[in-house]
Amino acid sequence: DRLISATAGDYEEVHDRAIRPTLLAEYVGQPAVREQMEIFISAARARKEALDHVLIFGPPGLGKTTLANIIANEMGVSIKTTSGPVLEKAGDLAAMLTNLEEGDVLFIDEIHRLSAAVEEVLYPAMEDYQLDIMIGEGPAARSIKLDLPPFTLVGATTRAGLLTSPLRDRFGIVQRLEFYSTEDLTRIILRSARLSCVDIDEAGAYEIARRSRGTPRIANRLLRRVRDFAEVRSNGHISAEVADQALNMLKVDNQGFDHMDRRLLLAMIEKFDGGPVGVDSLAAAISEERGTIEDVLEPFLIQQGFIVRTPRGRMVTSNAYLHFGVTPPRSGAE
Ligand code: ADP
Repeated sequence: DRLISATAGDYEEVHDRAIRPTLLAEYVGQPAVREQMEIFISAARARKEALDHVLIFGPPGLGKTTLANIIANEMGVSIKTTSGPVLEKAGDLAAMLTNLEEGDVLFIDEIHRLSAAVEEVLYPAMEDYQLDIMIGEGPAARSIKLDLPPFTLVGATTRAGLLTSPLRDRFGIVQRLEFYSTEDLTRIILRSARLSCVDIDEAGAYEIARRSRGTPRIANRLLRRVRDFAEVRSNGHISAEVADQALNMLKVDNQGFDHMDRRLLLAMIEKFDGGPVGVDSLAAAISEERGTIEDVLEPFLIQQGFIVRTPRGRMVTSNAYLHFGVTPPRSGAE
């Protein structure tokens, strides 16, 4: 398993609950998102209306689920959570919708994975709070229409481009989460450490933050592993030096790359002369799924300037060569 995978394991979810922020004021970073949501939430509350539907997109681990829960909490309503692949049939969605109370938040994670039949039911529900569904089959089939209470749909997806445009158009609020700065991740780590009684200084937190791929979930996970190292190999205190030793042992390099990032970059350099290479060829070369490359590996490598996307495929930049101590060829992308 990948130590710096951005998706959560089951054990981790339990652990996360204690440190997950519950108010906008505790949500670190993402200033534009926070400022806008503060206004939209206050306005909806003052009008005693349900908040407009919200679409949140961004790579895994950046805080989409956290934000959905904060929205419900700040609106003072309940949240019901489900995900695209779980809602197999139109009836599954109908069951969720008819369970909502006025103003509630329905959170659908991986909303890009809804089937067309389920999406069809979602449109009138979002637009007019109407449930319009066929039950039964053949000659006995009939359509049922029901009024739903006003509610807020919060949808999360890794990439906005994956959504059908009729679905996308029905969200009044669209928020895009960015990778976090090292400073913001340092604050997140210090906060988590305080809540779980971990002994860490600011330089220690900064070293972990710097190597967390811009992602809070990874920062929190690395903090737990570094804490283990500090307790066993040292006196339990996490300084920059202890963090560095622990992360080296965990094979998280000084850019925060792990074996999968390195494998991807090295494959591009060694097997494809630095590119351009199509994502499918790349997926085959490193035996990974295309979706993992596009959603998990590539966004951070692109943001950090190690890979660029060109119309002819992905290319590594000179940074990637330098990272491995290789002299970049002169024709390489800059
Ligand atoms: P996603 O749904 O985008 O995969 P999550 O909302 O599950 O990500 O966030 C992963 C973990 O990172 C959360 O449990 C939370 O503790 C932490 N986290 C995410 N965003 C923030 C933030 N802005 N401030 C503090 N902690 C955060």
